[in-house]
Amino acid sequence: MDERTGFATRCIHAGEAPDPSTGAHGVPLYQNVTYAFRSAEQVEAMRAGEVPHFTYSPRGNPTVRCLELKMANLEEAETAVATASGMAAIGATLLSLLADGGHVVASDELYEMTRACLERDLPSYGGRATFVDASDLAAIEAAIEPGTQAIYVEPVSNPLLRVADIPAIAEIAHRHGLLLVVDNTFLSPALLRPLPLGADIVLHSATKYLSGHGQVQGGFVCGRRDAVERIRGKMMMLGGQMPPFAAWTLLASIKTLPLRMERHGANALAVARQLAAHPAVAGVNYPGLECHPSHEVACRMLDGGRLGFGGMVSFTLEGGRAASGRFLNALSLCTIAVSLGDASTLVWPWHDRDLIRLSVGIEDGTDLERDIAAGLAAVETAATVAAVR
Ligand code: PLP
Repeated sequence: MDERTGFATRCIHAGEAPDPSTGAHGVPLYQNVTYAFRSAEQVEAMRAGEVPHFTYSPRGNPTVRCLELKMANLEEAETAVATASGMAAIGATLLSLLADGGHVVASDELYEMTRACLERDLPSYGGRATFVDASDLAAIEAAIEPGTQAIYVEPVSNPLLRVADIPAIAEIAHRHGLLLVVDNTFLSPALLRPLPLGADIVLHSATKYLSGHGQVQGGFVCGRRDAVERIRGKMMMLGGQMPPFAAWTLLASIKTLPLRMERHGANALAVARQLAAHPAVAGVNYPGLECHPSHEVACRMLDGGRLGFGGMVSFTLEGGRAASGRFLNALSLCTIAVSLGDASTLVWPWHDRDLIRLSVGIEDGTDLERDIAAGLAAVETAATVAAVR
């Protein structure tokens, strides 16, 4: 099933076939640890590489392998490895690429644990990172040193949602003989496939949009076979394999990924417009808004926003932290919670700036609009009372 088959079809069928022994439709959950051999000769044939055979689930499991094949297909990668979490994928990749003293140029707005890994942990393994604004191509190029091995970006930054120009960054990386590593968690392969645009390794926290229901943790590394298999070795040494149950639920949830992403995007655009039009809102960050500094590059990279610009929106209120508190406390549908990519809308106040981040869910748009309006009304009422006094 190659790239000529539609993306939605591949989400459903890639990596799957009826179970050959039972005909079961849908990949079974192989919740076992070890695998039986019929004879000593079969063991020898497996060791000689003549006959493939699973041996021990942490080294490979049929349910997990089907999911890896599906994910490799969706990201247009030679292969993929599934991991226990996004951080397991990121940690194994960074250790595999940079632990011999390498330098990485990284975006200055990354998921906080990734930033901590690059800043605090990597140096103890001999690696180093320089952080730059990934939407500034000149800054990326200027940060490259003789010992640089990779450029590491998230295509949509967190929390300001600035968009990195992946084809342009890939061109810089390859001109300098570097690898481009992209954490595609915020967009998912439904919106962006970085490998055909020139990236070398794509990472995911499957805990977010790929799962879509906030029920399992997982991660992926996708790319060329030689690089991914090296990372798989590091991941296995660290004990970071994806459990079969998580893989089994992800096989199901990925089937609806394009439908969900389109709805996340449509709802997010409506919420961003609602916020931008309200006098209690000081600023809105959403790459789908024409006024966002990354709108042009987002349109170019995301097919004009055909399936939307993703589900993440951030904004600031007039009135700072006190106004944030009033807004959050007046919401009844949106849940005050960290994480993202859930079917339900999650809202979270940023700790070091007066910023609120919304992971817009797939509820009915009119219900979301009513809830956001209630939050904004609470902010506006407090401001009016203060002005009258
Ligand atoms: N990458 C991004 C962009 C994230 O936002 C997160 C978590 O929020 C991760 C990676 C880490 O994922 P996990 O929680 O699955 O380890």
